[in-house]
Amino acid sequence: MKKVAFTLFMLVLLVGTTVSVEARTTPILEKHVFVHRIKPDDDMYVKPEKPGGGTNTGKLLYKYSGLHWASPPVNYVINAKVTGLTTNDVVDVMSSSFKTWDDESATEIFGSCSTGTVTAGAQDGVNGISFGPTGKGIIALTTIWYNPATGEVSEVDTLFSTNYQWSLTGDPRKMDLQNIATHEFGHWLVLDDLYNKPASTQTMYGYSTYGETIKSSLESGDIAGLEAIYGP
Ligand SMILES: [Zn+2]
Repeated sequence: MKKVAFTLFMLVLLVGTTVSVEARTTPILEKHVFVHRIKPDDDMYVKPEKPGGGTNTGKLLYKYSGLHWASPPVNYVINAKVTGLTTNDVVDVMSSSFKTWDDESATEIFGSCSTGTVTAGAQDGVNGISFGPTGKGIIALTTIWYNPATGEVSEVDTLFSTNYQWSLTGDPRKMDLQNIATHEFGHWLVLDDLYNKPASTQTMYGYSTYGETIKSSLESGDIAGLEAIYGP
């Protein structure tokens, strides 16, 4: 019995040591997925997903939970393969959507763009933008990986859903790419979604719909949120 207890003790010690060594060398990253859905028909007062926490009602015009990049600019890779748009179209829209945010802060937040292979939702050291299938009613997904101890973001990916057709001109039968991209890149900053009614015209409002273009430009809350994180 004594021997068994001793073996058990050694085992616990060994496992404990291994875990603590690993914890010291690699920070354990947490993942959060921002899900952008098509606007439901009914009026919506929806509880937010984490990060952020708390209730999301009232007059809040931006929401920020403290996550940020340690050292911008954030470089990114685009895989522009999508029906109906050329690579140049997609690259132009993405650059323009990033610039919309960058223009409101002296900090250079978004850096250089390249095109190449992107694995959506994979933690692979690439800040990737791509198109692919998603669940029903989902227009886009942005995934961030961050260190919960420091609040520092290390990677981000955005997937635009191929469940919808994409437009460059606000086509009422399609999703407008710049509208959705500008919203998703607010998550790259890392601003949270808003679901309260007074925020329904802000870029970070959590729902969109066909032909919508209002999110392509920033509103007062979006700019206040950006400046709160990266300065004016
Ligand atoms: Zn969102």
